[in-house]
Amino acid sequence: MYLSPEDAFELNQKVARQYEHYINPSLLRLLAFMGFDKVEWEAEGSIIRDAEGREYIDCLGGFGVFTLGHRHPAVVKAVKDQLDRIPLPSKVMLGGPYGALAELLASVAPGKLQYTFACNSGTEAVEAAIKIARLKTGKPGIVYTSNAYHGKTMGALSITDRAKYQKPAQPLLSGMRVVPFNDLGALRSMLDEDTQIGAFIVEPIQGEGGIHLAEGDYLRGASALCTERGVLFILDEVQTGLGRTGKLFAAEHAGIAPDMMCLAKALGGGIMPIGAVMGTEEVWQVFDGNPLIHSSTFGGNPLACAAAVAAIKTTISEDLPAQAAQKGVWLLNELKAQQRDFPDIVVEARGLGMMIGVEFTDEDIAGLLISSLANQGIVVAYTLNNPTVIRLEPALNIPQEYLERVVEAFRFALGEVRAMLAELEAVAG
Ligand code: PMP
Repeated sequence: MYLSPEDAFELNQKVARQYEHYINPSLLRLLAFMGFDKVEWEAEGSIIRDAEGREYIDCLGGFGVFTLGHRHPAVVKAVKDQLDRIPLPSKVMLGGPYGALAELLASVAPGKLQYTFACNSGTEAVEAAIKIARLKTGKPGIVYTSNAYHGKTMGALSITDRAKYQKPAQPLLSGMRVVPFNDLGALRSMLDEDTQIGAFIVEPIQGEGGIHLAEGDYLRGASALCTERGVLFILDEVQTGLGRTGKLFAAEHAGIAPDMMCLAKALGGGIMPIGAVMGTEEVWQVFDGNPLIHSSTFGGNPLACAAAVAAIKTTISEDLPAQAAQKGVWLLNELKAQQRDFPDIVVEARGLGMMIGVEFTDEDIAGLLISSLANQGIVVAYTLNNPTVIRLEPALNIPQEYLERVVEAFRFALGEVRAMLAELEAVAG
């Protein structure tokens, strides 16, 4: 049941007022600028509906959460079944779904990753990785890459390379060192220079940084270098994990075996929030004799773990990584063709699998594109660290017919923006 246009308008106004007075007024202004200052009502597969029942194709996928689309029936069922038994844990007995999830993750994760610590978000997974690295190596330092995004809590923010977020929150964790992305020599020099570095963390594809791919040689070289120097290699697959890039984990493209790996976003199957950090048997020695050296009340709860088990099984049984690979090639080719046709606006279309970014000459142009697409019923957004880039991260099982509509709408939006710019120029000139 949807609301009448009048009732929907009233609801949108009411919730906008609540954002204005009780949540975050400047966030409301940002959403309004992009054309998204309306209440989301329901979602299913790749479609989101507002309160009037107006449909949007979800081409953002909740910043990488909805690899399975919205409300995949297998995950909904697993969560409902668990809800009727024990949703949150007593914390004193064994968690069945937690055990099942950890064993399943160990069977599919790259290299020798064996143990799992479950938490509730990506940034918490990164916090745990930072802390475990310090506990394991006795060294405080972590090297991270230029343009990296690992989260916004204080530890993760300390290794997120954006002054706009870091500066106002200083002082951050000490010992954190940044090196240029995709530059193995720089990493080697840093490890030579600073003997207090215990770990190196990197995203296989920088998502919020603007969809930049780490080269295979870089990742393999960095992994080998870390092993040689006794430095832990941490892979942040919070956004790339669970099939998004065309493999279950992006690590598989480069054939690397990290010491720790962070997961979140798609892990909960688009139904439950959950994050996790995995580690090798050697790394997990940090819990020997002190099992509660790191802990979380909600981490590993039955509801979230049941969702994650169903999400992983469904991703594999429906061959979603292969779908992402195949549809991603098609989508990227179409967007590259538009890049050729609109070189005055589009700098580059790039990506891997269903993790695609389109870079524009200017962040206002990216904003205009987002709002033109919103008017055409398509949801996309910026990358958080780089507002000149629009990301497309649809569900891996999105029907081809929707992708075709997205591509068509994108071309129309580019035409609209070009016409608008020409008009502005005429007025100015
Ligand atoms: N790491 C990466 C690579 C991410 O993309 C993100 C979120 N965009 C995070 C960590 C933080 O995750 P969360 O927002 O769930 O805290």
